[in-house]
Amino acid sequence: MQPKPTVRGLPVYNPGKPIEEVKQQYGLEHVIKLASNENPFGCSSYVLENLLPNAKRMALYPDGAMRELRKSVARHLQVAEEKLIFGNGSDEIVQLISRCYLQAGDNVITADVTFPRYKTNAKIEGAEVIEVPLNNGTHDLLAMAEAVNESTKIIWICNPNNPTGTIVSAEEVTAFMQRIPSSVLIVMDEAYYEYVTASSYPDTQSMLDDYPNLIILRTFSKIYGLAALRVGYGICSPAIISELNRVREPFNVNDFAQRGAQLALQDQSFVQACQRKNSDGLEQLTTAFDRLGLNYFPSQSNFVFVETGVPAPDLFEHLLKQGIIVRMDESWGFPTAIRITVGSEEENQAFLNALEQFLQKRGTISAS
Ligand code: PMP
Repeated sequence: MQPKPTVRGLPVYNPGKPIEEVKQQYGLEHVIKLASNENPFGCSSYVLENLLPNAKRMALYPDGAMRELRKSVARHLQVAEEKLIFGNGSDEIVQLISRCYLQAGDNVITADVTFPRYKTNAKIEGAEVIEVPLNNGTHDLLAMAEAVNESTKIIWICNPNNPTGTIVSAEEVTAFMQRIPSSVLIVMDEAYYEYVTASSYPDTQSMLDDYPNLIILRTFSKIYGLAALRVGYGICSPAIISELNRVREPFNVNDFAQRGAQLALQDQSFVQACQRKNSDGLEQLTTAFDRLGLNYFPSQSNFVFVETGVPAPDLFEHLLKQGIIVRMDESWGFPTAIRITVGSEEENQAFLNALEQFLQKRGTISAS
């Protein structure tokens, strides 16, 4: 039995190595994972304390309309409830959008390099992917607008971009939106929205009324620290939501996830504290990179893309042996780059020590 042609030969998503696997493989007791842009501070203790009593509801299906969570998110964002759709992670919303709007003969436009699920889902639906190279690690919105043709259905903009951490500004986004035909969907993936500190970052929510072809994606997996629960959401026109609902599974977000996300929203002081600690962590990492003479892209997220000057697989292996998991990916086309998630101060320091040790051993920097 062969899968359908669009699925044959597709790459399987390669997630960051799990902690348990590395512990076993290298006989380590303590492993630090800085590979998947998770929150090193976990989630709010308010969620932990209040989620467990919901276990007794497990015999019942979750609310497929997500009424309570919808109300909470709508209140939090000051957005109409009918402009929200929830998914089993924002991953699922990427899939829903692709499934709903793409077929053979269509194309989508993405940056090269960016989050790989836009491309994979387009291919599954038989659509073509036009990849527009990044300009200095940043989406080249002018070139992306120029790439639009009569078969273009979706443009994916990852802002901040994974893996580079860079953003496109409000000014750039506004100019871009004005050039794109209203028949083309523009998806702004803002998975790292809550980490951004730059004042030039676009307020995409305020653009929704003017651009009914705009979809914004957010998630509870990053700053809210709920990656295991799998909750993401989209904000867009009610017309798009009702189309997406046609392809959504009836109970796609489980009860724990709905309640966890709702509880997490109630502790915004946790979110603010994480944002501050992340900014300090970015400073800690980039100050060290400057001292070591390493180039990196300016990050508005909870990770940094850094050129190490040594082959990424060698460094990756060295760090693993020391119990530190980072991210590298050949498909990025940057053979000496790694992506490092901002950890706690101690985790960042452990990574920096191991990095410096390796660079000294390889002779790319001199001993300090
Ligand atoms: N978009 C981006 C840019 C991401 O980096 C990720 C997670 N790595 C996702 C979407 C998916 O996140 P989730 O499904 O956990 O919401």
